[in-house]
Amino acid sequence: RELPGDPEPGPGVRQVHGALYSKVAPTPVAAPVLLAHSAEMAAALGIAEADVHTPLFAQVFGGNALLPGMEPYAGNYGGHQFGHWAGQLGDGRAISLGEAVVAGGARWELQLKGAGPTPYSRSADGRAVLRSSIREFLCSEAMHHLGVPTTRALSLVGTGEAVVRDMFYDGHPRAEPGAVVCRVAPSFLRFGHFELPASRGDTDLLRRLTDFCIRRDFPHLTGEGEALHAAWFAEICERTAVLMAHWMRVGFVHGVMNTDNLSVLGLTIDYGPYGWIDDYDPDWTPNTTDAGGRRYRYGTQPQVAYWNLSRLAGALSPLFADVAPLQDGLRRYVEAWTAAERDSAARKLGLAECRDEDLALMDELRALLQAGEVDMTLWFRALDGIDPAQPTLAPFEHAFYDPARRAGAEAGLLAWLARYAARLGQDPLPAAQRHERMRAANPRYVLRNYLAQEAIDRAEAGDLGGVHELQEVMRRPYDDQPGREAYARRRPDWARDKAGCSMLSCSS
Ligand code: AMP
Ligand code: MG
Ligand code: MG
Repeated sequence: RELPGDPEPGPGVRQVHGALYSKVAPTPVAAPVLLAHSAEMAAALGIAEADVHTPLFAQVFGGNALLPGMEPYAGNYGGHQFGHWAGQLGDGRAISLGEAVVAGGARWELQLKGAGPTPYSRSADGRAVLRSSIREFLCSEAMHHLGVPTTRALSLVGTGEAVVRDMFYDGHPRAEPGAVVCRVAPSFLRFGHFELPASRGDTDLLRRLTDFCIRRDFPHLTGEGEALHAAWFAEICERTAVLMAHWMRVGFVHGVMNTDNLSVLGLTIDYGPYGWIDDYDPDWTPNTTDAGGRRYRYGTQPQVAYWNLSRLAGALSPLFADVAPLQDGLRRYVEAWTAAERDSAARKLGLAECRDEDLALMDELRALLQAGEVDMTLWFRALDGIDPAQPTLAPFEHAFYDPARRAGAEAGLLAWLARYAARLGQDPLPAAQRHERMRAANPRYVLRNYLAQEAIDRAEAGDLGGVHELQEVMRRPYDDQPGREAYARRRPDWARDKAGCSMLSCSS
């Protein structure tokens, strides 16, 4: 049902009331070419490797052809952006092709990003540039292999068409190569899908969406009515807490934690101006458009998630006679986050269990890493290599960025290492087990911003080799990969100006 609403910036662009999606076909592109794919994802979908390398594959996943049974649509959702209700947003450049139910019963939704305009495109073109598509493709697969819940990426297809974007650094339009990523997830339902009907007072639609989501995505939940809805919300809270603990563990900064970018399945979704922590800095954000508010910093993510869950609770409140069950769900978030953070601390430090004083130990370490400008990933990976009898900074020399900052923090870090070594002395884990526990929690390789940028620069010059190599490295982020030491180094000095190399505006 379509009603007049906002002014219409483009043909077919509209406010959509009383409906959760609109049927819309991808807009064909000039010359779709497969640039990269995830062999694991193809296998999970039951797509044979030989079929990936056919012209039909590039046609389908570039948006030029539909397979039998595909019924493409764009989802309708709203969202709180940077703390304010933004009204209808919707899939402005994402088009779902449908769901694939594969052998074993797993269900995957296939969604093209950058496949052309939809009723939700507002004034934008529905397209995506190669650089942002490479970033989404590489990072979603990297996160998967890091063990972080995430949407996946099946393919990266070049469109053979130019896309024009205003570059943030000079404001001048620039023509760039376009691309389409096929992303894959059991569901792309976001908090904002529930907020939009709630904001319009459409409780019937809200209830139908909620019941659909529970039936399809949370089939293990039993009960009915309010009790079922409460259990479902509590599980969303729990999953979101676990997700935050993973982001904090690996040093991932989402950058645009608006409620339209949070998945009700607790998946990392919408890889825009995300970034990775190099030197440990809780105040760092990769998002230039957030520069004023700095809402979406690394260290604020767990609190922002809670704020977003509160907005979701507000949206769901018409389904409840009383707010108590929703408050219980939010409390569950706090409990789950606390438990997940303790678990993460124990794993990162190689302890059998996290005591209260270990949380303090972790907090002191964080303060020292920040003061000493120490690389987070390199520090934790090397922590396993200290001599507990006589800990020194020798295993960490490659993790410092600035000699003066190192000198300033040296005494504190040494004192910390001595306390940590003493703590290890009271821990029951045998050395081999401790070693395994730490390696599995502290990756050797993460998708550092400058590494992705180097791969993008090569790809824009026509060489996909960097994308493929990085993808390969990130398939085994916890393994030491001989010959690939260059991917496990601290950020080089040329990339130090973080605002230059790795900061991207939201919608590229
Ligand atoms: P994001 O900041 O990427 O999460 O996007 C916020 C909203 O803008 C979503 O509704 C997107 O679908 C929409 N959007 C972003 N980029 C484009 C684009 N190039 N064309 C159409 N809609 C877009
Ligand atoms: Mg989004
Ligand atoms: Mg986006």
